[in-house]
Amino acid sequence: MLGVSDPTIVTSGMFDRFEDAQDYQEEVAALGNGASTSAPAPAEAEAEVPPQPAPPRPERIQAPFPRPLRTRAVRGRYRGASGNWRLELRVDVDGERPTRRVSGDFFSTSGSTTGYFGSFVVHAPTITTKPAHVLIEGTGSFTWRAAAPKIRLRIPRVPAHQPQRPATLEFRTASDTAGSAYQCTYESRYFRTVSYEEDSVTGTVPFVSYDTASLPQPAGSPARVLTVPKALAEAGIELLTTGAANVIPTSAAGANATWSDSELHAAMVNHFSRFTNAPRWQVWMLVAGAHDGGYRGIMFDYEDAFQRQGAAVFYDAIKGTDAASRRSQLRTYVHELGHAFNLMHSWQKDLAVPPAPLGPNGGLADLSWMNYDWKYQQSPSGPGGASAYWASFPFQFTENELVHLRHGYYRNVIMGANAFSSGAADIDPDLFDDPVQDASGLALELRSPKPAFAFGEPVVVELKLSGTELRDRETHGYLHPNDDLVSVAVQQPSGRTRLFRPLLRHCVDTARTVTLGVGRPALYESAYLGFGRDGFLFETPGTYRIRASYVAGDGSRVLSPVLRLRVRPPATGADEIVGELLLGEEQGQLLALLGSDAATLRGGMTAIDTLVDEHPDHPLAVYGRLAKGINELRDFKELTADKTLRVRPAHGAEAAQLLARVVEDSVADTVGVDNITLNMALRAKARAEAKAGDLGRAVDTTRDMVRMFEGKHLNPLVLDDIRAQAEATWQEIGADDGENGHRSSEA
Ligand SMILES: [Zn+2]
Repeated sequence: MLGVSDPTIVTSGMFDRFEDAQDYQEEVAALGNGASTSAPAPAEAEAEVPPQPAPPRPERIQAPFPRPLRTRAVRGRYRGASGNWRLELRVDVDGERPTRRVSGDFFSTSGSTTGYFGSFVVHAPTITTKPAHVLIEGTGSFTWRAAAPKIRLRIPRVPAHQPQRPATLEFRTASDTAGSAYQCTYESRYFRTVSYEEDSVTGTVPFVSYDTASLPQPAGSPARVLTVPKALAEAGIELLTTGAANVIPTSAAGANATWSDSELHAAMVNHFSRFTNAPRWQVWMLVAGAHDGGYRGIMFDYEDAFQRQGAAVFYDAIKGTDAASRRSQLRTYVHELGHAFNLMHSWQKDLAVPPAPLGPNGGLADLSWMNYDWKYQQSPSGPGGASAYWASFPFQFTENELVHLRHGYYRNVIMGANAFSSGAADIDPDLFDDPVQDASGLALELRSPKPAFAFGEPVVVELKLSGTELRDRETHGYLHPNDDLVSVAVQQPSGRTRLFRPLLRHCVDTARTVTLGVGRPALYESAYLGFGRDGFLFETPGTYRIRASYVAGDGSRVLSPVLRLRVRPPATGADEIVGELLLGEEQGQLLALLGSDAATLRGGMTAIDTLVDEHPDHPLAVYGRLAKGINELRDFKELTADKTLRVRPAHGAEAAQLLARVVEDSVADTVGVDNITLNMALRAKARAEAKAGDLGRAVDTTRDMVRMFEGKHLNPLVLDDIRAQAEATWQEIGADDGENGHRSSEA
């Protein structure tokens, strides 16, 4: 029982220091105001003790407190110590939206270092409010096997104008033997405090505030002016604005002012290079112009050292000074910060670790910052969409989200620690081998472009969403796992199932409605699943089983059949060398980002150069050329640690040459890259050729693209899409007025 490394166990001499606190409690009790009650304290920042019927007194005697005594709420953060143990204690039994819980994090000190030890939370304590103190008792849930898991917490109640006096926390064993005790001084009315730094690029206007009364809001929601820190403060979280709000000049960015995932990743790495790679309560927000994909926001959820420490919002997608725009800006900022605290989207809570219950209608009925307004769906056939959301949204997190923000175990909440969602939960292929009943009218299918992948070959699969009925069916068009509305689970040859987690998450909080039916029977997307936040998923030869789940507009979860695909062992020595060149950690990131200039990934780029230079004819060299070619085509924006924007201009000719070889090596089916990637590579090649000044060749490339896919005997509707993509590419490169362009459209 008396293990030395358990902060709930007693050490000698501990109680001596608490005499003062007990004395003080007696003193307050002597004020004799109020009776004992076990009701929860009122939900106001300051609780008012009701006046008690007093015996008649002679008028000349002054009662010590003739009027009701206003006492402080006891809620907030306290700090205690015992021996080498440090305790951060959170008391959440009164004040704004109390969840009626107590929780704490333990740290142990050794010399001049302090390390995190473990956390606990008491979910359903007995709360007794006495005149002089609040007594909280219950059994905690701990991150370790605590020897003394029962708590008894006494918090003195003091008049509102006086500072909060220390609280006394005692641990007891299951058989009621005294464990250790902590005297905890009051620190803050907030449960957690996070440093917040916001930088913006020129031309963007960071969000300031929104008055919730500007537009109709639900009757129960008080009108107030919300800033981003105020919205978090209402949840009990303090955002301390720190650091200068840098404004980053973009003049150097030239015409291409949109940001790619690769550039954002490089910006984040540079920003955090100033910090140690340790969990800390800090978050960085970049207000950028626009994302290549047109998104409103993303959370950086990258390598282990940088998880959940930063987010970006894209001004061009959310700008506007009217009330509706400012309201949606507020939502986007708070939403992205919610991700930084490890809050999942409303329909994904069951994928969290530990899984949290989904709200009503599969979570889509959550009135939360973490739902999308367009995804809101009160019930499968009830009101839904943005107008229904805003008519009912009270500008707050749900109760379950408050419990996570305030009492989630330290490593599950603090930035830079535990990963954002890691369970595979309901899409474990084993659990769903039997067909599930599905009346959604939609079908999801995973397809592999080739029967087997070579050792080290990037695994790309195609996702196909189709209508199963003749009548038209409306749904959203987000099929890529990076967009968070599709989850993919992979069962590895070892039998272990893992969820594919993308490196960066796009928040697709604008509706993209598609109608599946006669006019458009299916949607297609290709996704690189080889490397995600957890590293490589397909590095061992063997058979893999993959299953995907799509959250449809009405809340239906459409599951795909299980796709089996094989990774072959290397057949030759060269296969093994080439495979290893692609299986490095940095190379995996580069394949996901399609190349990068980031200094931290330079080793990976060197390996990719080696692959292309020393094994130019190996079938897997195509992937190296693709990553290099796409990166060469970028005017690569780099936000340096001192907040200046450097731009390395695109190398059109080099990009065109690399991409030409990608195309050449992929023309035959089952060789090279898959059709959707090939289509992307062809359009990139045309842009590269235009950038290199050869407009004629660029137009030829798009014409070749149309002809090549016509030769593949695709669905006529898919071919129409490809012709439209060719048109769009001509417009983008300025060839739309040319004769060539129009002739090509008929080719
Ligand atoms: Zn999101």
